[in-house]
Amino acid sequence: MLEHIDLAVSRVRHPLKFRLLHVARIRAVTPHLLRVTLTGDDLHDFASASFDDHVKVFFPAPGSDRPVVPEAGPNGPVFRDDMPRPVARDFTPRRFDPDARELDLEFALHEAGPAAEWALQAQVGQALGIGGPRGSLVIPTGFDWHLLIGDDTALPAIARRLEELPAGTRVAAVLEVADPSARIEFDTAANLHAVWRYREDSPYRGDALLQAVRDTYLPDGEGYVWAAGESATMRAVRYHLCTERGIDKSRIRAAAYWKQGTQAVHETLDD
Ligand SMILES: Cc1cc2nc3c(=O)[nH]c(=O)nc-3n(C[C@H](O)[C@H](O)[C@H](O)COP(=O)(O)OP(=O)(O)OC[C@H]3O[C@@H](n4cnc5c(N)ncnc54)[C@H](O)[C@@H]3O)c2cc1C
Repeated sequence: MLEHIDLAVSRVRHPLKFRLLHVARIRAVTPHLLRVTLTGDDLHDFASASFDDHVKVFFPAPGSDRPVVPEAGPNGPVFRDDMPRPVARDFTPRRFDPDARELDLEFALHEAGPAAEWALQAQVGQALGIGGPRGSLVIPTGFDWHLLIGDDTALPAIARRLEELPAGTRVAAVLEVADPSARIEFDTAANLHAVWRYREDSPYRGDALLQAVRDTYLPDGEGYVWAAGESATMRAVRYHLCTERGIDKSRIRAAAYWKQGTQAVHETLDD
């Protein structure tokens, strides 16, 4: 008899919590990706159930060494009236070590924006605030195959997923980064086929990624697609997979992690 494998995607809620943390270590994973290890007793009850999670990161105002961090109210964050609202951006909990109370975030370095600018000047001992994760979308690992698609901003989530997938899982990853120096090594027991594409080879951002997705072989069986990156590219990727390749909309999670020309964008893409 065939073993029944539950392929239902589920949502987990977490109590809303805001935490003040300090930078313990900084490491350049590549010239384009900076890993910042945060630590603090506030992490004692931190939980992240899915590679798809995000935390809201609160950055100090220019000239200040501490970010303004809101309180958790019954309907969400409550900010003090007498303080300016902090700049906040979304980042993936790349690795959490409950014993060491360490949380790794990885910053894709790009030209302009408070998060990227903070990362470029980051130093051990500096303070950052985080909120959440408020909820997790848990995607089962038991699909016959997985397809992971993304640009630099999705690398932390994809690397975490690849570490978490069981040995032998069939997975393809289609990745777009600036050039070969931005490639990362994946630590995975899964059966991984990784395809890297480089923006330096293509005049338009996202073209190389979309073409690589078009060229991707989709096996038979039950599969799940996870995709994150620039908004217009992710819309095109999702449209192609759902409309031209017959992927059921319940079997794809596509998100805009940023949008060309716009600050602080987070959109889950659906119809
Ligand atoms: C759920 C979720 C998880 C995310 N996880 C991560 C993560 O782990 N690591 C990570 O690096 N990013 C991640 N991101 C993306 C990150 O939040 C955005 O890139 C964010 O806009 C960066 O903030 P900023 O202050 O640097 O730039 P912003 O002030 O938001 O934007 C300034 C300008 O830079 C452009 N821009 C923003 N991001 C990029 C980029 N990556 N490349 C080129 N131009 C850009 C914008 O279009 C805008 O014109 C995640 C986003 C979401 C929604």
